[in-house]
Amino acid sequence: MMTITYEASGRDGLYINLTNRCPCNCTFCLRNHADGVYGSDSLWLDHDPSLEEICESIDQRDLKQYREVVFCGYGEPMERLDVLLKVAAYIKKRQPVKIRINTNGLADLIYGERTAPKLKGLIDVVSISLNATNAEEYQKIVRPSFGAGSFDAMLAFAKDCVRFVPEVVMTVVDVVTSPEEQEKSRQICESIGATLRVRPYEE
Ligand code: SF4
Repeated sequence: MMTITYEASGRDGLYINLTNRCPCNCTFCLRNHADGVYGSDSLWLDHDPSLEEICESIDQRDLKQYREVVFCGYGEPMERLDVLLKVAAYIKKRQPVKIRINTNGLADLIYGERTAPKLKGLIDVVSISLNATNAEEYQKIVRPSFGAGSFDAMLAFAKDCVRFVPEVVMTVVDVVTSPEEQEKSRQICESIGATLRVRPYEE
């Protein structure tokens, strides 16, 4: 059976695994050496779940129990933006719970258009992987399939999100960034209007 929604031990959110697709190949990606996160079942999907399958999985959960619902999983959730927005609307209709997307921030490159305006009114928090303080480092760590313009596109998306989403967080992983880079990351976030979160590497 596929894991479409899951809980993570020690956390009070409900997580949604929309797809295993992702245009990146981050050096630290969990998909390279694990099956799940925080004690979840395997997050490998044998197909992208349909809207019906996702809603069915949500219906089996008591949404009142969770502090937030997070589009996350083993892949880039914004690869399925249409479905993601429909699922977010489905959840909001049932329970006014906070909804977050964890993303690599490259959706504008995936679709060739601005995507942040579509999040308005449905998504409460966008958490974007910043991962580096310049384009060159970003290419080395994230290895996106879009090439050299990816870092700037990610920053432009983050800036755009600040206009349409109440809370924008940008993350760096502690083990792949030095204290100096973390400080620089903080400055980048400040200039954008986002909040930096230095997150621990998850094994
Ligand atoms: S963006 Fe996320 S899912 Fe994609 S390769 Fe990087 S860590 Fe893995």
